Amino acid sequence: MDCLFCKIAAGEIPSNKIYEDDRVLAFHDIDPKAPVHFLVIPKEHIACADEITPENSSIVAHVFAVIAKIAKELDLKGGYRIVNNCGVDGGQTVGHLHFHVLAGRQLAWPPG
Ligand code: 5GP
Ligand code: ZN
Repeated sequence: MDCLFCKIAAGEIPSNKIYEDDRVLAFHDIDPKAPVHFLVIPKEHIACADEITPENSSIVAHVFAVIAKIAKELDLKGGYRIVNNCGVDGGQTVGHLHFHVLAGRQLAWPPG
């Protein structure tokens, strides 16, 4: 399968890694939209949030636990935003489930 984030998860394409275990990888976004902007992905290929099922949904809980751990390590005391873009109208450009974590400045709400 020709999937950019599967290739990053497999180490075939380099990334600036923050955290890795057997199920997930966290790495800095190549085009950061905030002073802190990293992505957390499941290593398993799941195309988007629409493909979360009772069988695979435990990965989402793990992603959120990893985000909380990284946030403590990066000392994101000011807070942060977790974003998942799903589908064309959601602004998804890479078809492998990923959660953005944005921090380091006051983020506007609602987003555009
Ligand atoms: P989406 O728009 O699908 O929600 O987010 C995709 C994100 O992946 C974007 O923020 C984009 O900057 C990031 N991205 C795209 N290609 C690469 C890459 O090759 N390496 C890294 N680290 N990030 C990427
Ligand atoms: Zn993939």
